[in-house]
Amino acid sequence: MCSVKDGLIERDNYSLAGKTAVVTGAARGIGRAIALELARRGASVVVNYRTRQEAAEEVVRLAKELGADAVAVQADVSDDAAARALVAAGAQRWGKVDILVNNAGIAHYGLLLDTTVEQWDLLMGVHLRGAFNCTRAALPGMIRRGYGRVINIASVWGQVGAANEVAYSTAKAGLIGFTKALAKEVGRGGITVNAVAPGVIETDMLNGLTPDEKAALAEATPVGRLGSPEDVAGIVAYLASPAGGYVTGQVIGADGGMT
Ligand code: NAP
Repeated sequence: MCSVKDGLIERDNYSLAGKTAVVTGAARGIGRAIALELARRGASVVVNYRTRQEAAEEVVRLAKELGADAVAVQADVSDDAAARALVAAGAQRWGKVDILVNNAGIAHYGLLLDTTVEQWDLLMGVHLRGAFNCTRAALPGMIRRGYGRVINIASVWGQVGAANEVAYSTAKAGLIGFTKALAKEVGRGGITVNAVAPGVIETDMLNGLTPDEKAALAEATPVGRLGSPEDVAGIVAYLASPAGGYVTGQVIGADGGMT
């Protein structure tokens, strides 16, 4: 619960000092910004990467510069044993994992009729099985301690659907269902579960788009620009903090007004 003094929320309710976090897919893009924002607010952070060890070590170095402890851990989150080892790495180092951010993801552009079974399974494996694996690994400790924050990075396309991205939209809509259902299952245990649904955010994930396509997307966004990874990270840090403790089962848009 959020602590209040003289009718004001105490400042440390926005701090993550003493908290520990696992952020999946944190070597670049939105995950990197989330890992650094959690570190800036005092959390110790496991920086998960799949392939980019050097980039992950750089995030660890920057987190340490911010005064936080951090460690880079390789894992493909769609692999259950790897996801368990990832969460265990945080628990072994700091004795607990308070915050899990299921951020790892991949894009897939293509008509449904051109989408192969392998592509479909790959997307569901990273977005859905990955979140399932990591959450299942982190929850027992959270339940034992009566405190936890699970934050899933969904997408505006999981809310409204996107042509040419049916598989991706389906995976993100599934993640939203996972969020709402799990929030009801674990709420009494002091654990909140929320989703953040970014709009179009400037990361490598947009590499498949032409400058004209990006400009058209910015034009279609009410605030008139694409988002930055930090636009997402600030919301995640709030949800991870004690001040966010009465928010659960929600999908918070970070989409510049797209929805
Ligand atoms: P990004 O720059 O492409 O980064 C994706 C990250 O996920 C990378 O660090 C990647 O690791 C990691 N990853 C992919 N598959 C993984 C796996 N099986 N196990 C562990 N890590 C894995 O993309 P981003 O834009 O930051 O996206 C982050 C999240 O936001 C994704 O879930 C994405 O769907 C969501 N999102 C993005 C946007 C957007 O416009 N950018 C909008 C809505 C939602 P490697 O570096 O090793 O490949």
